[in-house]
Amino acid sequence: MTDGRLALNDGRVMPQLGFGLWQVPADQTARVVREGVAAGYRLIDGAAIYGNEEGLGEGLRGMAVPREQVFVTTKVWNDRQGMVETRRAVEESLGRIGLPQVDLMLIHWPCPERGKFLETWKALIALREEGKVASIGVSNFRVSDLERIIGETGVVPVLNQIELHPRLQQAELRAFHARHGIVTQSWTPLGQGKSFEAAPIRAAAARVGKSPAQVILRWHVQLGCSVIPRSTRAAGLAENLDIFDFALTEAEMAAIATLEAGERTGPDPASFN
Ligand code: NAD
Repeated sequence: MTDGRLALNDGRVMPQLGFGLWQVPADQTARVVREGVAAGYRLIDGAAIYGNEEGLGEGLRGMAVPREQVFVTTKVWNDRQGMVETRRAVEESLGRIGLPQVDLMLIHWPCPERGKFLETWKALIALREEGKVASIGVSNFRVSDLERIIGETGVVPVLNQIELHPRLQQAELRAFHARHGIVTQSWTPLGQGKSFEAAPIRAAAARVGKSPAQVILRWHVQLGCSVIPRSTRAAGLAENLDIFDFALTEAEMAAIATLEAGERTGPDPASFN
């Protein structure tokens, strides 16, 4: 293992750094998974909506390490929320990936207007009890959404996967997660490269002799977040993994904190349905 590990609130452990499969073409997914695992990744972030769960499964079957060593996440898409639908959606995902169980199943978006995320959460609790999923969590949940599912069920998600990068630092959600033992996982961690030229990133990159992307990924790790950059190139996969042999100083972390701009690259969870 080259990366750190994070303890989950259900007693399990997950790698801190992984890679994501969003927009990875279905016919390249098996190769990307195999190359990622060969490079040293042990966490893979998939989703039903990415349309490449079959490739994910094919890649897992073709990899050089035992299946148990790779932590596999996938997600329930918005139109599959609800008690009955979610059960079907999870079974279909397992069928496409070709596994009896995934490590982590997330609700992809809260979709507040649909009014079904609580029911969906209850479905995931039942599926966990049946062993179809080892751990359960959420994605794009706001503080109020988290309070609702925790308040109604008493079951705290192990993780909330949210948009997080130097221009959207999510301080309020991170503080809530820390109080409740929820891992923060950062999506679009590189923020579409919009901070690559920012002075605090360039200065840290020059000091440690790393790329802007590596500095930003290291920043996520030092915040205590799990992070899942995406690259389809072998060189990019290797570069993004190579962030455990240096550290940012407190002053560098503080300088990066000033880049907060409240700027999303993706949809707002309050209105995305
Ligand atoms: P990312 O921040 O990982 O950026 C990917 C882009 O950065 C690609 O264009 C890639 O070529 C480029 N890149 C990667 N490594 C680089 C490097 N070292 N130097 C320069 N450029 C580099 O963003 P993403 O793909 O949007 O997000 C990562 C993952 O997060 C996704 O693959 C997916 O698994 C997950 N995600 C989840 C949600 C959600 O709603 N839960 C939404 C978006 C993404």
